[in-house]
Amino acid sequence: CQIITATAALFLAVIGILLLVVPTEDVKGPPEFMYGIVLDAGSSHTAMFIYKWPADKQNGTGIVSQHSECHAEGGGISSYAGNKGGAASSLQKCLEKAMKEIPQSRHKLTPLYLGATAGMRLLNISKPKESDEVLKEVADKLKTYPFNFRGATILSGQEEGAYGWVTVNYLLENYIKYGFVGQWLSPGKDTVGALDFGGASTQITFETKQTVENNDNLMKLRLYGRDYQIYTQSFLCFGRDQVLLRLLAHLMKTQGSERSIVHPCYPAGYSDSIKLSGVFDTPCNKRQAPNKPEDDLQIKGTGNYDQCLGNVSGLFSFDSCSYSRCSFDGVFQPNVTGNFMAFSAFFYTHSFLEEATGISITSPDHLEDAARVVCNMSFQEMSSKVKQEGSRLKDYCAVSAFVQVLLVNGYGFDYFSFPHISFQKKAGDTSVGWSLGYMLSLSNLLPAENVLLRKSLRS
Ligand code: AMP
Repeated sequence: CQIITATAALFLAVIGILLLVVPTEDVKGPPEFMYGIVLDAGSSHTAMFIYKWPADKQNGTGIVSQHSECHAEGGGISSYAGNKGGAASSLQKCLEKAMKEIPQSRHKLTPLYLGATAGMRLLNISKPKESDEVLKEVADKLKTYPFNFRGATILSGQEEGAYGWVTVNYLLENYIKYGFVGQWLSPGKDTVGALDFGGASTQITFETKQTVENNDNLMKLRLYGRDYQIYTQSFLCFGRDQVLLRLLAHLMKTQGSERSIVHPCYPAGYSDSIKLSGVFDTPCNKRQAPNKPEDDLQIKGTGNYDQCLGNVSGLFSFDSCSYSRCSFDGVFQPNVTGNFMAFSAFFYTHSFLEEATGISITSPDHLEDAARVVCNMSFQEMSSKVKQEGSRLKDYCAVSAFVQVLLVNGYGFDYFSFPHISFQKKAGDTSVGWSLGYMLSLSNLLPAENVLLRKSLRS
């Protein structure tokens, strides 16, 4: 026993000496990360995403992941137009969170971007001076933090679509993959299209081999040494919130009333009232402005799917097309091909419909069946079927009918192509949207050969 104790002591002593003598490089600590921050200044709200990647690896698909996200309280920055200081202070809480979550030693090395989308595009149309003020104010605020501030800008519709597509395919590892032989390989997979449904605009973006007949829809990207020809289209005023306002204006027009309307997409028995100014204070409804904007509009729901669909269809124009084929409103679109990922409000609508009806929606017929069931539900039935805060419930029938017309009649998804749409909010732990693609592109995190958004993208 004594011999064993002595041997053990000797052994421990030798280990101790070895630990003192052997250089510590072999002892690996936790990986060091680099960080990047994107503020997605959307029309309905601002979300902050913190991304991270191992400090010793700068490129490669799947290297960058989402560290955390933060949702600013209140509306989007465009809703603070004319309210000095409001937009800037709305971002404060999330930025304080970023200060705490990102190690201090990394603060200065962390790029910080703010990208504003269709809410600010609309404000820039209706009140360009106020739009400039809001952007300047948020930029000034962001400069007060120790991060590496890289600008606050309004993305064009094409940029929003293209960066969403970059995100989706980066997350799905469609560009390159790390092979067993220890080098980056092209996986030879087809890319996946991106369908984004925001509050004020909607985007469709996919790779196509067909001729893109309108140059505004063409985006050529070179990623990891491969060329991609992308079709992208953003429809301003076709985001969820703007569609709902346009629908109210449309119903007022067709019913010839500025005081009260029946709403076939609101649940039967549901009634509401809204200030007319709330409906018309948007460039999407400007041409039909009422005589007395401060008056209230009385709305009575009738919950009629067919009439709802008819009115929602009235927001689209399928009449004229000067190209070989169009989606709607005279916009060129090649045939949809391959797989698609549908995110933001496409995801919310799809998951609500499935939860409320129990129908698994994988075809245009399923979508129609589920929309019909929801449109026939009373407000109480809806709220008993889903765990959701009440304020959005009244709008699901209209939004579902809109998604149906957009995807099926507009984009042309049919019995064969619809099942290739995956409705997703996240891929792994990362939220799907334009912001990751934006940061990857602007921070040169997609090299080998840089992402070249080769065209002038302003629209
Ligand atoms: P966002 O993707 O946050 O810009 O939102 C796009 C649209 O989806 C806006 O009209 C939001 O009001 C709406 N939205 C956001 N969160 C939800 C949710 N949990 N359920 C339904 N709609 C939502």
